[in-house]
Amino acid sequence: MDSETIKKAMDLIELTNENICDHCLGRKFSDKIEAENNQERGKILRKEIAISNNSSNLEKYEKYGKDRKYEKYEKCPICEDILLKIDENLKNEAILEKIIAKIEYLDLEFNNFLLGSKIPKEMLQKDEDLNNELDLDVENIKKEINREIGKLLEKKLQKEVEFENPDIVIMVDLNNILKTNPNPIDEVKVRIQINPIFIEGRYLKLIRGIPQTKWPCRKCKGRGCKDCNDTGKMYEESVEELISEIVLKNSYGRSAKFHGAGREDIDVRMLGTGRPFVLEIKEPKVRNLNLEKIAIEVNEHSAGKTQYNDLKFTYRNRKAEIKVSSPDTYKTYRALVECDQEVEEDKLEKLQTLNIIKQQTPQRVAHRRADKIRTREVKNISTNLIDSKTFELIIKTQGGLYIKELISSDDGRSKPSVSELLELKAICKELDVIEVGNDR
Ligand SMILES: [Zn+2]
Ligand SMILES: [Zn+2]
Repeated sequence: MDSETIKKAMDLIELTNENICDHCLGRKFSDKIEAENNQERGKILRKEIAISNNSSNLEKYEKYGKDRKYEKYEKCPICEDILLKIDENLKNEAILEKIIAKIEYLDLEFNNFLLGSKIPKEMLQKDEDLNNELDLDVENIKKEINREIGKLLEKKLQKEVEFENPDIVIMVDLNNILKTNPNPIDEVKVRIQINPIFIEGRYLKLIRGIPQTKWPCRKCKGRGCKDCNDTGKMYEESVEELISEIVLKNSYGRSAKFHGAGREDIDVRMLGTGRPFVLEIKEPKVRNLNLEKIAIEVNEHSAGKTQYNDLKFTYRNRKAEIKVSSPDTYKTYRALVECDQEVEEDKLEKLQTLNIIKQQTPQRVAHRRADKIRTREVKNISTNLIDSKTFELIIKTQGGLYIKELISSDDGRSKPSVSELLELKAICKELDVIEVGNDR
C-alpha cells in the first residue's frame, strides 16, 4: 500500500475523531485496495496503518483492527452507524424478507431487478462533502448500500441486478432505520416500481370508422354522459383498444398506451403490410408473454375489423423511433376520386405532372396544427377510370402529404392539385393506405 493512501487514511481517522466505521473508511479508498467489500478494506487499512507506525502510535490505530463494537464508541460521524445497522438486518435477513414479502404480495413476475435506497439527505451530503474535501473520487454511501443489499438479494431471488433496463426497481426506504423502535425493521418501507413492457408490430385496419386510439367523448371528456351512453368515448372501438384489452388481460397490466407510426383518418383503411406501432403495457405483473399465442387471441377478438401482425418485444426508445415521420418515409395510398364533371381517360394523363406539392396546413386540421406551407414530393401516380366521373388513384408520396387536400385543392391551399390539373371539382370519396415504409 502506498504511503500516500496510509497518510490520507490516518488524516481521515484523525478528522473523524477516530470514530469513522470500517465501512466508511474502506469506501473512501475503494479505488486503492482490492477486497470483497468496503468493510474489509477498512480493516486492511487499519492493520497497515498500525504496521507502518512505530510502537508509540501502534495502540491508537490497532484498536480499529479489531471488530468494532459500536456501543463502545461514539457513532461514526459519516453514516451514524447506519451501515452497521443495515449489516445487522442483512445478516438476520430482515430486510430481504421484507422485500420478498412485498414481491409476493404483488404477485410479480420479473427476470431482473435494480435496487435503490433512501437514506437521510444530510447523510449523503456529508459523505460527498468529505470526498470533495479530501479530493477522493470514490462511490458514495448510497451506492455501497444498494450494492450490499442487491448482492444478497440476487442470491436470495436467483435473479440478477440490471442497471440499464430493469424489469422492476425495488426502493428500500431506510430513512427511519436508526429510530429507536424496539423493532427497527418496522420502520423500513419497501416500494416497487414495475417498469413497462413494449410490444412492436404492424396493424391493418380493414374497415372504415375506427379511430387509431381511444377518443374521449367531447362533451364529458371521458367521465361518461348521455351523449356517449356513459362510455366516455366518441367511438366504441379503436385500433388501440382492440389489441390492448387482450394484452392487458394476459399481462395483468394497469393500463396501455398505443404509439403509432403516424395515423390515418377514421374513415381511412390501413391495408397492405400495415402500419408500425408500439404498444406500451404499464405495470404488468406478468411479462414473459407468449406473443404468438396472444396474436392469435387478439386477431380472433378483432376479426373483420383490425389485424395485428409480427408482434415482438421491443425497447422503450422504439416508440419514439417509429413516430419520427422522417422525409424518407414513403406512403402509398389508394383513393377513390369523384369528379363533378365527366372526365376522359387521356385527361388523367395530366396527373403524371404532379411532383412537388406546396401544401398549406389543411383547413380541417388548422385548429390543432401550426399554419405553414409544407413541400412534399409525389413519387409515383397511376389512375384507373371506373366510370365517367369516378377514377381510382394509386399514389406513392413522401410522408406528411395530405391526400384528401391534394385531390380537392382545399380552396387553393394545395398547389398543384388534382382538381386544378383536371379543371374541375374532385373529392376523395374513399381512401386506403396500402403501404407504409422506408423504401424509396
Ligand atoms: Zn460509517
Ligand atoms: Zn360523454
